[in-house]
Amino acid sequence: VAAVLVVEDDAVIGQALETGLRAHRHDVRWVRTGMDAVAAADTGSFDLVLLDLGLPDRDGIEVCRALRERLPGCVIVILTARDEEVDVVVGLEAGADDYLTKPFRLAELAARIRAHLRRRAPHSSTAPVARVGRLVVDAAARRAWLGEEEIALRAKEFDLLARLATEPGTLVSRETLMSDVWDENWFGSTKTLDVHIASVRAKLGAVTQPGGDPVPRIVTLRGRGYRLDTE
Ligand code: CA
Repeated sequence: VAAVLVVEDDAVIGQALETGLRAHRHDVRWVRTGMDAVAAADTGSFDLVLLDLGLPDRDGIEVCRALRERLPGCVIVILTARDEEVDVVVGLEAGADDYLTKPFRLAELAARIRAHLRRRAPHSSTAPVARVGRLVVDAAARRAWLGEEEIALRAKEFDLLARLATEPGTLVSRETLMSDVWDENWFGSTKTLDVHIASVRAKLGAVTQPGGDPVPRIVTLRGRGYRLDTE
C-alpha cells in the first residue's frame, strides 16, 4: 500500500487513476492543478506522485521541481503524451524518476508502482555498505558519501550508484541497470538511464575536498554499459 498523489486535470484520466489505484488498495489523493499539488506536498507525505505535465495553471516542469524539493524521498512519475519527448528529458532533469507515455494500461502502471516501491527497499544484490575509493554507499540507510561529504542523491540516482558500486571495475550492462534500478518490464526508452547517469556523474565530479582516497568515476562503454572506476 502506497500513498499516491495524482496530479491530473483531465477528469476522465484522473478518475480512472483514482478508482484503479484504490482498487489496488493504494491511498490516493487526486488534485487537478499545480497549485493544489504543491499545497498537498506541503501538508502531506507521499510515496509516489503521478504528474501530468500539461496542467492548466502552472508549467508541469516547474511543478515537478517544486514537488521534488518538498518530497525528497518520493518517487515521481511523469505522465506524458507520446509526442512530448523533450519534456521527458527536462522532467527527468527537474527531479522525476520515471515516466509513462499516455495512453497506458492500468495494469502497466500498477506493475510499475510495485517495482518502484519494491526498490525503495535495498536491492538483494546490493552490498550493505560498499566502498569504492573515497565513495561509501550505505544501502540500508540509502545514503552515500565521498569521504566526509554526503552526496545528495535522488531515489533512482542512489539505486544506480549503489548498483554500480556493488561491482566496481566491472562493466554493468545497460539492460542490467534498467532492470535492476527501474523495472524488469521496462517499456520506455533508456533515455531515463542516460539522464540519471549524467546527473550522478556530475555529483561525483562536484567533490570539493582535496586529498584522501581517489574519487571514483563512471566510465561509459558506448552502447554496452557503465563501469565505476577509481583511477
Ligand atoms: Ca493535462
